Amino acid sequence: MTNTLDPAAPLVIDTATLGRSSGTTLAVAREVPAPPALGTDVFKVPESSAIDIDVLLTAVSEGVLVGGEVTASAEGECGRCLAPVRDTLRVQVQELYAYEGSITEETTDADEILRLQGDLLDLEPAVRDALVLAMPVTPLCRPDCPGLCTECGVPWDELPDDHSHETVDPRWAALDKLRLAGEDVEPN
Ligand SMILES: [Zn+2]
Ligand SMILES: [Zn+2]
Repeated sequence: MTNTLDPAAPLVIDTATLGRSSGTTLAVAREVPAPPALGTDVFKVPESSAIDIDVLLTAVSEGVLVGGEVTASAEGECGRCLAPVRDTLRVQVQELYAYEGSITEETTDADEILRLQGDLLDLEPAVRDALVLAMPVTPLCRPDCPGLCTECGVPWDELPDDHSHETVDPRWAALDKLRLAGEDVEPN
């Protein structure tokens, strides 16, 4: 491990009270401020907004199993009409944090496993992964959002049913001109 965990960090848990006898458990429930840059390009949990952590730590022979639920509010923009979209993400986490020096730690690639630093474990990667996985690839304000008029960029929801643009396609515009001339009306 290159970076050292800060025991006071909101998502760092000290497992000293859990001990290392297999099967002992420790419930951890806390509300923590969201770390920066938690999300995707189109959806994110705002920094410092509340994340609810409700997990059970279980000591096993190779490390500490963390299982439970994480809840956070996330927001983004509708992929069709750009209206703000908010959603509550409620996700399950289930991760093994290997003890330093355990067989699991020694036989697994560094980037494939989470590990304890002494008695400390960092929930952030597990929380981050679980929340990001639950985020929509294309957020929508509602499933049948009609999006924006491609001509004027106004949301269809705000436009009358008969909204249209006369000169959508230059070929049609030319035809319209002919038609209008035939009707002896000044084209505009
Ligand atoms: Zn929309
Ligand atoms: Zn329009």
